[in-house]
Amino acid sequence: MARKSLGYTELEWTCPFCNGRNPGTVTICGNCGSPQPEDVEFHQPVKETLITDAEQVAEIESRGADIHCAYCGTRNPGDAITCSQCGAELTEGEQRESGQVLGAHQDKDVPDVKCPACGTMNPAEAPMCSQCGQNLAAPVTEAKPRPSATATVGKKQSGVPVLAIIGIALFGCIAIFLFMLLFRSEEVVGTVQSAEWERAVVIEALQDARYQDWESEIPDNATSIGRCEQRIHHTQPEPPQNADSREVCGTPYTVDTGSGFGEVVQDCRYEVFADYCEYTVLEWAALDTIVATGNDYAPYWPDVGVLEESQREGARNEDFIIIFSTDGDTVRYSPSSLESFTQFQPGSEWILELNALGGVIGVEPQ
Ligand SMILES: [Zn+2]
Ligand SMILES: [Zn+2]
Ligand SMILES: [Zn+2]
Repeated sequence: MARKSLGYTELEWTCPFCNGRNPGTVTICGNCGSPQPEDVEFHQPVKETLITDAEQVAEIESRGADIHCAYCGTRNPGDAITCSQCGAELTEGEQRESGQVLGAHQDKDVPDVKCPACGTMNPAEAPMCSQCGQNLAAPVTEAKPRPSATATVGKKQSGVPVLAIIGIALFGCIAIFLFMLLFRSEEVVGTVQSAEWERAVVIEALQDARYQDWESEIPDNATSIGRCEQRIHHTQPEPPQNADSREVCGTPYTVDTGSGFGEVVQDCRYEVFADYCEYTVLEWAALDTIVATGNDYAPYWPDVGVLEESQREGARNEDFIIIFSTDGDTVRYSPSSLESFTQFQPGSEWILELNALGGVIGVEPQ
């Protein structure tokens, strides 16, 4: 995912000694005069305003995270060589961490707050009362989880609902019962009453078959290309070189730069479009079926005649049926081959094994 910068905003820090709220760039607490300790983190103000001054933005970008002097602890800008307080080299100093996600970008207006001391209304982001100087520190809001981070894994549901177990058990019982019923068989004597056969030849013709696919996937033998529409082909982290695309960005969030400023960023992806088209290709498809039938034991294939150039013979199919008369009933049986079919001569008697549905599952000579 491409991270896109929307700009910079000044952060805040809260003085651990007096709870006073200070602008990110201020190194000495405006309320009690204590320097900002190294372990005091920056946090988001109640409302983040993007810095529009190009010069200031350029300075923030070139500056880097602050360095705290190893000797006196004074906070120095990231590009400083010596400590502004004691003059020591800053090479031994510890550079502030940067890159932490502080939370979703807060650009919504927040209502004014009332000074607890004199009642004057002050902007929510004001660190102290404009009238009496009272510290207006609000409790520090905890850094919210990164908005576009991967979804948290939900609690796994443990235990299967009781109803489902009962249902499965019941279904199982019914299935076993049907299974037993189906495989319960009986034997009867059947006399061959008549025979039937059917032989069929499918005639195929080259016909237009319609398909849809990405324009780049259409086969060379397509006979026509119809309506196309732009669809999302895939998404990718970087903008494509030569394809239409749409940028899709997540919720903006603020990242600590370690210098008292936060960078407001957004994770973006690109939906790349491509043409999805209808097209046709010539394919062999069933046009007709020519059938021959008979009631004897000499089946033949139907005469398909002379076919046109764009036609051909397709699949061949044969069906044989013997009709037995049993005790007051008739049973149909389909021998699997012509050789088997011809054994069932009219009047011959056979022992038929029937399943519960009356289907023949076995045939033995009487
Ligand atoms: Zn303070
Ligand atoms: Zn120093
Ligand atoms: Zn006040």
